[in-house]
Amino acid sequence: MKSLKNVVWLLLPVVLCSFNLSAQNKNDKKNKDAVADTVKKAPAKTGITDKIKGSAKSEGLFTLYLDTAKGTMQLYIKKDQLGKEFIYQSFSMGGPTSLFLNQNMIRTTWVFKIKKSYDKLEFSQVNTNFWYDPANAVSKAADVDVAESVFYADKIVAEDAGGYLVAVDGLFLSDKLDQVKPILPPTVPPGAVFNLGNLNAGKSKYSNLRSYPNNTDVVVDLAYDNPAPLNGGGKDITDARYTRVRMQHSFLEMPKNDFRPRFDDPRVGYFSQEVDNLTTVKVADYKDVINRWNLVKKDPSAAVSEPVEPIVWWVENSTPVEYRQTIVEAGEKWNEAFEKAGFKNAVVMKIMPDTASWDPADIRYNVIRWVSSPYPQYGAIGPSFVNPRTGQILGADITVEWRSGSSTPVFDDLFNSAPSADAPEKLLTDIKGKAHFCSMATELKAQYAAGMSMAEMMGAGSSEIKEMHKQFLYYLILHEMGHTLGLNHNMKASIMLSPAEVNNKEITHKIGLQGSVMDYPAINVSNDRSKQGDYYTTKVGPYDIWAIQFGYTPFAPSEEKNGIDKILSRSTDPQLAFGNDADDMRSPGNGIDPRVMINDMSNDMITYAKDRFILVNTMMGKLKDKYSKPGQSYAELRNRYGLLVNQRVIMANGVSRYIGGVYVDRSFIGQNSPNKPFTVVPKEKQKKAMEVLSTYVFAPNAYAADSYLFPYMQMQRRGFNFFGSPEDYKPQSTALGVHQTILAQFFHPTTLTRINNSGLYGNTYSVAEVLNDLTKAIFDADLKTSVNLYRENLQTEYVKGLSNVVNALPAAGYDNASKAAAYNALKKIKTSLATAASPDEQTKAHRAYISFMIEKALAVK
Ligand SMILES: [Zn+2]
Repeated sequence: MKSLKNVVWLLLPVVLCSFNLSAQNKNDKKNKDAVADTVKKAPAKTGITDKIKGSAKSEGLFTLYLDTAKGTMQLYIKKDQLGKEFIYQSFSMGGPTSLFLNQNMIRTTWVFKIKKSYDKLEFSQVNTNFWYDPANAVSKAADVDVAESVFYADKIVAEDAGGYLVAVDGLFLSDKLDQVKPILPPTVPPGAVFNLGNLNAGKSKYSNLRSYPNNTDVVVDLAYDNPAPLNGGGKDITDARYTRVRMQHSFLEMPKNDFRPRFDDPRVGYFSQEVDNLTTVKVADYKDVINRWNLVKKDPSAAVSEPVEPIVWWVENSTPVEYRQTIVEAGEKWNEAFEKAGFKNAVVMKIMPDTASWDPADIRYNVIRWVSSPYPQYGAIGPSFVNPRTGQILGADITVEWRSGSSTPVFDDLFNSAPSADAPEKLLTDIKGKAHFCSMATELKAQYAAGMSMAEMMGAGSSEIKEMHKQFLYYLILHEMGHTLGLNHNMKASIMLSPAEVNNKEITHKIGLQGSVMDYPAINVSNDRSKQGDYYTTKVGPYDIWAIQFGYTPFAPSEEKNGIDKILSRSTDPQLAFGNDADDMRSPGNGIDPRVMINDMSNDMITYAKDRFILVNTMMGKLKDKYSKPGQSYAELRNRYGLLVNQRVIMANGVSRYIGGVYVDRSFIGQNSPNKPFTVVPKEKQKKAMEVLSTYVFAPNAYAADSYLFPYMQMQRRGFNFFGSPEDYKPQSTALGVHQTILAQFFHPTTLTRINNSGLYGNTYSVAEVLNDLTKAIFDADLKTSVNLYRENLQTEYVKGLSNVVNALPAAGYDNASKAAAYNALKKIKTSLATAASPDEQTKAHRAYISFMIEKALAVK
């Protein structure tokens, strides 16, 4: 796709070159005196004209001279540009996805300056982390002990009256601007992560240049050589010895406008630039500014006005034709929120014509694009890049992995670790660095595919499924676009309505199904087809409208504080509930408020989850009839089965967080919130969660509905590939996975110590009582009978978990009360096993083993 553009680019600057060079000569004549003066002062310098012979000129913010024979480049810096601040933004434009070098990834942003030092030009990064109040005398000592960071310096090649020419191959054909090759901690074993090797400057080259009055883009192809690769990478790596990475370096002028930064507030979720105030002694007096677009009313006196410059989005011509209209509609839905903030048509959606002559990588265009990469690292991503000084969003892109947006469930992704995962998750996090990743599309895809399967089995026709897919796509675009407007996640938004209300279209069409589209919701499938409402919300919710009002309502400087305070005072409204990823509970031990969770729905998740468990178990019985189609393998059946199992994991996770949970309220003092900042989840609710887990996750018959499917769980053979293990289905692993996930939450030191700590401010469900109820749920039902394989695994894992708590080293973080409770639970299990009836040999063996484990655990000194 890009190679054609390169050809176009190679032709274009040559044409520009002759025109611009003659213009340059005219200017030289005009500035004759000034030139003569400079020559006198700097006699050693050869004239610029000599040095740029045979070069194509790309004139703009920085003027680029590319030697069309040698492929080397020089940069012309105007003298009045010295000392000024500019913005640098890097994008990866294609490279190993396992290193997050995918196409159009927005990477590093910083502010930099260029200065002359002796006979060189120095390029240095500016530290934007601090703010000094100019009224405070301390500000005279601003930036003390803030280390200067010079990333490039090179000799001035030539000089004229207006500026300097400097060679920049060392800057661009290198890792100096953005660290492309990840620097991994020494603890990472060799070969654990795909390694690019060393940069080969000789094989690296410029591939595209774009220069405009306010910005300059330099696209380079960097070549890396690794003569002896230990890790061959995935299928996307053609040959691990030679890997090329395409990077785009964009330089932007500091925007010249009167954009006033808006300060961040903990009650609303915006991405922000963190800035420390070094001239204050007040607590939490941060100067963090939110990321937002520069919207200015055309008619400042009108209550609602069009903006001078709207936020224009282009749906790239790579987008499947059948999705385009839906995307345009979904994007325009954000205008409802902007209208409440005083702007009409703030978001404008356009479709990129097939004949368009502009490059979608041009940062002046905000583009929604569809791609299909070999190993997608995200389902969809909606990043933006901003001025670090003010938070002003300067551009954004949305990239959707086509396989996320398609109606085909890609199931093995859900269970087998992603094929590109040649690095453990923690390493990937290191590599990803600061980038904001949104895994929403991946979660949404799993939800959508499961929901579609269940709806089909309940008799939904093709038009209904089409509508469901449309709602899915709507949600995806609404969500990703929300990120590009500055909003971060709101994982609390799905609690707006009750389980009965979520299927009431009168309500959901009016205010939405959720408070915000920035959540990752469970697909809303009713167990009763006649009552089915919307599957996904198709409009921005009350929180989204409020958040846009906070971020975008224009105020006169004198009215700003009062105006914003008035908006923020509404944060106690339950429809505006907010909690972002920092608080969310998706991983065991993370977060504390069970309502701030992904893949949940309604203000009564325990009831909602119970209904979903029942639905999944009922649908299991219909699965084979519906998805065994003559003439095809059992791959689809296996896929659909996994989607239903995944629903169980998701629901169990959501429910488990209520045990030991603490509700959070972030309202400020004086807002008259009925809640304290921390309120323990009522014991009755915690017990109800335990009951649901006991019945639908831990009970001996929890997976009884699945058994008939096991003989059909066959993968479709492909070459010699059975994904690393024999092809027979392993049902015990699936159930074990569910159990391990839930036990990990219970046994996490953060969970157990929180249960104890919250006992000092209202929690009456002690760790001892929680473990007692768990022991009952995991052992009682089959004390007098045989123990089936699922329960054998569950009981063994549970005893292992308890033993780990009892024998944990202090560094693990368990408190004394948790250890005591785990110790007592083990003793009780041992006692009850002593009198248990074991009707068969396997059960006897299992119990003997459990007793042995307990004895061992209790005997450790
Ligand atoms: Zn997201």
